[in-house]
Amino acid sequence: MANYYNKDLYKILGVNIDASETEIKAAYKKLALKYHPDVAGKNADETKFKEVQEAYEILKNIENRKKYDILHGFYTEKIKKEYEIYNNTQNKNKYEEFIKQVKAQKKNSPESFTKSINDALENLFHSQNMHKKQAYKPPVNGEDINIDVSISCFEAINGTNRKVNILHTQPCPNCHGRTFINGTKCSMCNGSGEISQQKKINVKIPKGVYQGSKVRIKKEGNKGQNGGKDGDLFLIINVEKNSYFDIEGLNILCNLPITPYEAVLGAEIPLYIMNETINVKIPPMTSSGQKLKLAGQGLENKSKTKKGDIIITVLIKLPEQYRADELELYKRLQATADYDIRKDLRNASK
Ligand SMILES: [Zn+2]
Repeated sequence: MANYYNKDLYKILGVNIDASETEIKAAYKKLALKYHPDVAGKNADETKFKEVQEAYEILKNIENRKKYDILHGFYTEKIKKEYEIYNNTQNKNKYEEFIKQVKAQKKNSPESFTKSINDALENLFHSQNMHKKQAYKPPVNGEDINIDVSISCFEAINGTNRKVNILHTQPCPNCHGRTFINGTKCSMCNGSGEISQQKKINVKIPKGVYQGSKVRIKKEGNKGQNGGKDGDLFLIINVEKNSYFDIEGLNILCNLPITPYEAVLGAEIPLYIMNETINVKIPPMTSSGQKLKLAGQGLENKSKTKKGDIIITVLIKLPEQYRADELELYKRLQATADYDIRKDLRNASK
């Protein structure tokens, strides 16, 4: 550690020995900026920056400054007077005693005197730093993290799992976000003041989420500092469009393809929805576009007081190709049919 006693801290800061606190602070700020390794550019000087910081650390505190003044030999009538003004009789006596001791020591053993006062300043400095470390720091809550998650409509209806990558950011534990340590750029965060960490976690997305839903994963946000709470992770749900499923409020909409003969004869069609297989009854003579409602089998609201429906829209679909014998059957149907399917249309056109 530096030989504080031998250094002229006032000269380092470029101020008079009777400079006010304000003057000392102003001088420190000016010089710190002048030599700051990150700000000063060409003029940057880490050694000088460090020296200025150390000088300020001692001189900014009125008691430490006095001790330094006394030990360095700067104590003058003016400082003595100041001391008398600020302190009671008991302190004054202690001060006089201290001065006496200092003088005696200095006279008897100049070398050990220098050493002892340097030690005293070192201790002073050390305890100051210790004090800083233990000083009360207000708790800071960690920030929440939002990430977008795309899921299919089917997953929204049934619930799903996802592996997500989260980027946690927190103040650098080495420099505590100050970016510099004793005038040197922090090596852990490279002077950014914060560190980032990737984390992979499995998240459960409950059934019944919809477009824009926010799924909260507790305490997976950024870490709180100094006893502050950890933030939460929020998954912002994007439901991808799908030609078979859609969600409208608490209702689940489903387009169900059926064959022409299922439409005519009726059918029972298994449909996997809401984590179970339900049998959808298609009544005989069902037309394309007809809707079937499965009441109360849709999504539940948050307070579980209301349930939506599953609304099925039947769509008669043809295969890409019919075999020749199947086409033959259609031809026979056509030949024997005697109903007039467009009678209503003709009436409407009149
Ligand atoms: Zn750092």
